[in-house]
Amino acid sequence: HYQKNIRNFSIIAHIDHGKSTLADRILEKTGCVAKRDMKEQFLDNMDLERERGITIKLQTSRLLYKAKDGQEYIFNLIDTPGHVDFTYEVSRSLAACEGAVLVVDATQGVEAQTLANVYLALDEDLEILPCLNKIDLPSSRPDEVKQEIEDVIGIDASEAPLVSAKEGTGVEDLLEKIVEVVPAPSGNPEGKLKALIFDSYYDNYKGVVIYARIFDGIVKAGDTIRLMNTGKKYEVTEVGTYSPGPVPCNELKAGEVGYICASIKQVRDARVGDTVTLDNDPADAPLPGYKKAQSMVYCGIYPAEGEKYENVKDALEKLQVNDAAFNFEPETSQALGFGFRCGFLGLLHMEIIVERLEREFDLGVITTSPSVIYKVIKNDGTEMMVQNPSNLPEPTLVKQIEEPIVKADIMIPKEYVGNIMELCQERRGKMIHMEYITENRVQLHYEMPLNEVIYDFFDALKSKTRGYGSLDYEFIRYEPSKLVKMDILLNKELVDAFSMIVHESKAQARGKFVCEKLKEVIPMHQFEVPIQAAIGQKVIARTTVRAYRKDVIAKCYGGDISRKKKLLEKQKEGKKRMRQFGKVEVPQEAFTAVLKYD
Ligand code: GDP
Ligand code: MG
Repeated sequence: HYQKNIRNFSIIAHIDHGKSTLADRILEKTGCVAKRDMKEQFLDNMDLERERGITIKLQTSRLLYKAKDGQEYIFNLIDTPGHVDFTYEVSRSLAACEGAVLVVDATQGVEAQTLANVYLALDEDLEILPCLNKIDLPSSRPDEVKQEIEDVIGIDASEAPLVSAKEGTGVEDLLEKIVEVVPAPSGNPEGKLKALIFDSYYDNYKGVVIYARIFDGIVKAGDTIRLMNTGKKYEVTEVGTYSPGPVPCNELKAGEVGYICASIKQVRDARVGDTVTLDNDPADAPLPGYKKAQSMVYCGIYPAEGEKYENVKDALEKLQVNDAAFNFEPETSQALGFGFRCGFLGLLHMEIIVERLEREFDLGVITTSPSVIYKVIKNDGTEMMVQNPSNLPEPTLVKQIEEPIVKADIMIPKEYVGNIMELCQERRGKMIHMEYITENRVQLHYEMPLNEVIYDFFDALKSKTRGYGSLDYEFIRYEPSKLVKMDILLNKELVDAFSMIVHESKAQARGKFVCEKLKEVIPMHQFEVPIQAAIGQKVIARTTVRAYRKDVIAKCYGGDISRKKKLLEKQKEGKKRMRQFGKVEVPQEAFTAVLKYD
């Protein structure tokens, strides 16, 4: 029977433990990609991913493996992202699999995201196959780390393959183990079609391309499919598999993973998590779907040049097609004009979208201060959710503001415990529990306002632990908190794009920081520019950008003609990225400069 030789699996790991490198080696060993075509990290096909060394979008590949038992197996490998911001994408890919290869760096051991990913895999009832990576490094401690996997995760690691994804050692062992341990898919090819959409993207020629796992039945070109949640119908134009480029085939059967094209124009019609069935012989009930990804962080995105509004809108629409967790709607700002309110999973997600706008669409944008969603209870008893500081009602109308709290699991070597407890306290964290997971490694459980986590908590954690700290967090509840809206005034005029909601105890320091940062980046004008941070009418911090002095200009513009020209050119280029607020010119970078906070 064809199913017994299929293995559908994902690779899960903490970031940097070597998932993408291992995926590359597996692709190579299965002859799927000729060695000469092999770019490092083949599955990370967005330039941004390769540069930043993180996997953002999951990628699927069908591979052929001739096992030692003489039989040929079909591996459907789905790579998953490894950053805290992208847990959602991980759970999506896992639902399409029977097993997960758990990669643990043998020099590092179990990390916060290792655990978080294991829990996601267990939620999907997957068989978990641990393997130890980076055994080529002298500092690797495979035996200790095996023990750690058993102690901390509670799965048998005695037979975990020892792998160097970099050098290729142990990869065949692992492939054999996949054949042995990961269950073959079950499901009835004669049954009514049920296929789970676990990803989709937009192709200019084919329309929306659906990645699907077929659980029951068969789908082929010419079929009329129905998407069970939206009720929409389409005629299938092509089905196929990725190996790793698209290869059309005649049909996809129960147990298989592949793509379906059906001239679907809008990605929102083919939602991730929806079930595909046949229109003339539909399944009774859809497969259990996914929870909708919850945006945790919001910010405004505005075209750097006002006339590019439509271009930015088009670009955001295209990005959304690729990214079910990203959403946006129009908004206006007094300072910045027409733009969009955008929701993200976290700050990295936000940075990536902004960077993609710039790189892939060549659009400069201005982003406003990121904000979490606050719950505001007004005096009249009504509740509202606020994700834009400008929408916060007058303080006199507000009875209470509540902020989202997350449960943060932090893992660190024991020598950093003091540093990290201090950091968490600074970020208004409340320690719930601390435990030694091994002799040298400690897990801290905190409850912390999300607002304090989204800025640069992760970076701070990394730098205070020399890169050894790891973090995982999830939303738990709303809690009342002493929050205030802080405004920034340039030359006495309020610039709404800089407004932010901060904790009372942090307002002063934050205000001072923002004023100082703005002073660094706002160029001199012919007049003094006062910069003020204020809560309501009360100014809590201030600085001033001094005016030009005549002799400075003279000196600057004296010199030889080529230097002068260069200066003028530079100035012209700089001008493009300036925004005018009242009489004050503010460079685009001002908006990002105020975000980094330490
Ligand atoms: P991912 O974040 O889990 O996808 O990890 P990557 O595959 O991007 O690997 C992270 C880093 O570890 C990269 O610099 C890799 O070159 C390196 N790396 C991965 N596997 C090995 C290995 O087996 N040995 C050594 N020495 N380095 C490795
Ligand atoms: Mg990767």
